[in-house]
Amino acid sequence: MSAYYLGCDLGGTNMRAAVVDAETGATFTAVKNATHAHEAPEAVIGRMVHLFEAAITASGVLRSAIRGAGVGVPGRVDYESGETRFLPNFYGNWPDVPLASRLQKLTGLPTHLINDVRSITLGEWRFGAGKGIDTLACFAIGTGIGGGLVIRNRLHLGLLGSAGELGHLIIDTSQDAPVCGCGARGCVEAFSSGPQIAARGARAVMQGRTTVIGELAGHDLNKITPALICNAAQAGDPVALEIYDEAGYHLGIAVASVVVALAPKMVIFGGGVAAAGELLLAPVRRALSERVHMLPPEKVRLAQAMLGDEAGIAGAAGWAYLRNEQGYLVADEVREL
Ligand SMILES: [Zn+2]
Repeated sequence: MSAYYLGCDLGGTNMRAAVVDAETGATFTAVKNATHAHEAPEAVIGRMVHLFEAAITASGVLRSAIRGAGVGVPGRVDYESGETRFLPNFYGNWPDVPLASRLQKLTGLPTHLINDVRSITLGEWRFGAGKGIDTLACFAIGTGIGGGLVIRNRLHLGLLGSAGELGHLIIDTSQDAPVCGCGARGCVEAFSSGPQIAARGARAVMQGRTTVIGELAGHDLNKITPALICNAAQAGDPVALEIYDEAGYHLGIAVASVVVALAPKMVIFGGGVAAAGELLLAPVRRALSERVHMLPPEKVRLAQAMLGDEAGIAGAAGWAYLRNEQGYLVADEVREL
């Protein structure tokens, strides 16, 4: 029996949505629209409603067969009330926007919100690399480093839904550690995110080191991306190899902390930077073997995410399904004492 849900990934630049069979994760054609996050919430919500209808039309599934909607949101949400709490890239930061109830009113679909990286984690756990694994951690490495935790077959949300922000594990306690976007010093995000990798490439070129990175970028420092450095590394460029080795090793220090705290069966790596595969994972493994002594680190499987851009959409739909039909409660977990 199929359980059709609408999954939406609300980004700061684009919003994407598709109908998903939340039993299997099978995803119909995704449709996309510009978010225009600088506009007032009601305008963005209006575009979301159009997007939902377009996704349903694109799927060919009868509207009456869609049982609900899940939305992955880039920031903090109140899992109980379905209100947004803080969306850093949106106009006014959306402190108390009743997004779920507005969408529900305008579409007639019972709607549930989830943080966007938690939805990626949920998608990979239920339908992707982590299928059948009861305890896992997920790192999504792109512009920032996001994360999520699944503990004994539950997405772990924690107090106020704030658990799983793995990019802000601190790996450098020195006074001059780099400052992270969150305001703390020494977070792994300040070492291994996409912009940090690109910046290292640009620095190497400016320092006049022997590398093909500058040439590949047409001698334009702004064109240096993690993907470009990855290409250089795969062609054997020593500076590019060193950049990925350092980024992976720093990431590995954070992964080691998660392994020590959680002893997960698997750690999943997604996001654009993780496309580098072994260039990133080999140094992660090295960091684990040096720093994890509580269990044999090779027992923890390191896996690449499988669903790519669809993970967030499938995860959001899967979340709505769990909340709507599986009696999945969050109140006790996220509420203050
Ligand atoms: Zn941070």
